[in-house]
Amino acid sequence: MNQSSKYKGNILLIDDLSDNLELFSELLLLGYNVRSITVSKIKSKTLRIKNQDVILLNINNPEINYYQICDSIKNYKHLTNIPIIFIVSLYDVFDKLKAFEVGITDYITRPFNMAEVVSKLETQLTIKRERYSLEEEVKKRKQIEEILNHSRALLLSILNSSLDGVAALQSVRHPKTKEIKDFRCLVVNPIFAKLFNRSQSDIIGKLGFKNLIAQINIDFFDDFVKVVESGESLQTDFYHPLGETSWLQFVAVKLEDGFALTIRDITPSKKFEIQLQEGNRQLQLMANLDGLTQVANRRCFNDYLEKEWKKHLQQQNPITLIMIDIDYFKLYNDFYGHQKGDDCIYRVAQGIAMIIKRPSDLVARYGGEEFVVILPNTKIEGGLMVADLIQSTISSFSIPHEKSTVNPYVTLSMGVSCLIPDGKTTSKDLISKADKALYKAKNQGRNQVINEEK
Ligand code: GH3
Ligand code: MG
Ligand code: MG
Repeated sequence: MNQSSKYKGNILLIDDLSDNLELFSELLLLGYNVRSITVSKIKSKTLRIKNQDVILLNINNPEINYYQICDSIKNYKHLTNIPIIFIVSLYDVFDKLKAFEVGITDYITRPFNMAEVVSKLETQLTIKRERYSLEEEVKKRKQIEEILNHSRALLLSILNSSLDGVAALQSVRHPKTKEIKDFRCLVVNPIFAKLFNRSQSDIIGKLGFKNLIAQINIDFFDDFVKVVESGESLQTDFYHPLGETSWLQFVAVKLEDGFALTIRDITPSKKFEIQLQEGNRQLQLMANLDGLTQVANRRCFNDYLEKEWKKHLQQQNPITLIMIDIDYFKLYNDFYGHQKGDDCIYRVAQGIAMIIKRPSDLVARYGGEEFVVILPNTKIEGGLMVADLIQSTISSFSIPHEKSTVNPYVTLSMGVSCLIPDGKTTSKDLISKADKALYKAKNQGRNQVINEEK
């Protein structure tokens, strides 16, 4: 039935003797689209008329077996389901039972009562209209179902081919307090299940995610509860050695009353990152270390002194500097050779480093055979004590120095300075004071410690 048609319905009138002209014209007048054909046309099996809503079959020729005609109509594929209404004479012998058996839907008796005809036609048309809209509805639902199935299959194939573990989880709340007690896995892809050493069916639809995630980290459950309750996403890298995997990245995003969880194996990139960090650390170390002595270099000394100077200025604490120089080292080099000279510088540096124990203290090679020691939060007395200790340590090494005029062994001269930084002084003042004291130590005969105040 064409719903947008201008007619109320398409009526096929099968009338052998055309004695229903009145009915024909009345129906036309009432807005029905009526077509009239003869019984012989039905029999000829050449009927092409389609889209009919009701067939009216006029029973008026005793020589025709109308029950057979009914069968013939039903044999036309496009007419099989069209309701057939017999038009019979009130006085005809009419086998109703047989008629209904061969598939008629209703019958009308002549002479016509037009209201009855219309009512019977409308009943059939209404049934057909309802069936039509029902069929349309079923068709639409089937289409939607197909689209849904298709997208479900698509989603599944995406999930299954993902290299990440993916799961959708639904909160399981306490019926009274509404507190989240656990999560139920709604969707889980194979990688996700493998990460937990389970099959997908072991996890999907089941409770117990709380225990499952506790195998990795006991705190994750509370973190996921927070994601659901606050709506804030979570991204965290986690060290979890498991076969070839050692680093996992978790991304949890709130999804209705639950969350979507992606777990990615980031071991290769993490390893690379760690290598890079280690490389950077080594570079940093190398940039700050003196190659020969393995103590801090001049650059590191400058940076550290500057940083400490600012800190001490703020806190108004004393900072002490010891400047150290090997005595008659030119003579040492000349006599023992450059290589032995290098060895001596190394031993002296290590000797000084042995004394310096506080993490905030710093020993550095200032240049050539000169060293500096920064002693943060230290008064001059402390500095002098450290200097004496350095002197006695190097002396205990008894490194022969035949050409020295002060001692047959290697000795050191040291200048010690101490300042509480103020707005007028700079770190350079601390250095120059220590330098002056060192100069004094040299002048006064070497192998000694001089306090800048002296
Ligand atoms: P003073 O007691 O006055 O300090 O006399 P000195 O000879 O130690 O002083 P001077 O500054 O004249 O000589 C320092 C010498 O240290 C000069 C140089 O040959 C030597 N020197 C500097 N750097 C190195 C180094 O890296 N390796 C070696 N083997 N010698 C070095
Ligand atoms: Mg020198
Ligand atoms: Mg020297």
